[in-house]
Amino acid sequence: MSIKNIRNQIRLAELDSSRVEGSVNLIAVSKLQPLARIEKVLLAGHRVFGENRVQEAYQKWPSLKETYPNVSLHLLGPLQTNKVKESLKLFDVVHSLDREKLARVFSENIQQLGQSPDFFIQVNTGEEEQKSGIPPSAVDKFVGDCRETYNLPIVGLMCIPPINEEPSLHFALLKKLAERNGLKRLSMGMSSDFVSAITFGSTDVRIGSALFGKRS
Ligand SMILES: *Cc1c(COP(=O)(O)O)cnc(C)c1O
Repeated sequence: MSIKNIRNQIRLAELDSSRVEGSVNLIAVSKLQPLARIEKVLLAGHRVFGENRVQEAYQKWPSLKETYPNVSLHLLGPLQTNKVKESLKLFDVVHSLDREKLARVFSENIQQLGQSPDFFIQVNTGEEEQKSGIPPSAVDKFVGDCRETYNLPIVGLMCIPPINEEPSLHFALLKKLAERNGLKRLSMGMSSDFVSAITFGSTDVRIGSALFGKRS
């Protein structure tokens, strides 16, 4: 689908759910996509992109950022603490803050660097063993620790619903957790469920295959 088409669908979903027009950010998830497809979206004027891996992002984005200024790059995938320093040089927003050790290492590196990305805390709403994220029952404490102990700018919560479940239950849970912690942004909704996610209050949809086509 073209970026124009995706933007139209987002606009319609905003209108349908009485959301302010333009209140939902589109993160174009460019992981494992050929450069030509990414450049097409850049040439259409889009500047917000998401990647899953630090190493892969380094292979394409430093040079793309030179050609297309004002790109905002979002890290969506799980992160090892030994990649934190590198990630800070490339990413503007991190959606996968998912454990205390990572918060601590980010905090230390941000102090040295003097600048910080915005953070979403990833919540494992389905409490799946193989999936990273803070369990729902531990979210309030983790948000508090990130704010008070680690001084991280937490802007919202992020989730990836389990594959075979109705995603709306997970969207509703994430919204509830965000509201009671005074967090305004919700990173939820992917290619198959972003319209529903917007209805449930998503502010940041992460769309890959629907925009770029199937990944290699
Ligand atoms: C790959 C990925 C996406 C995009 O998935 P699509 O189904 O291709 O839209 C969104 N969020 C995360 C965390 C991802 O890993």
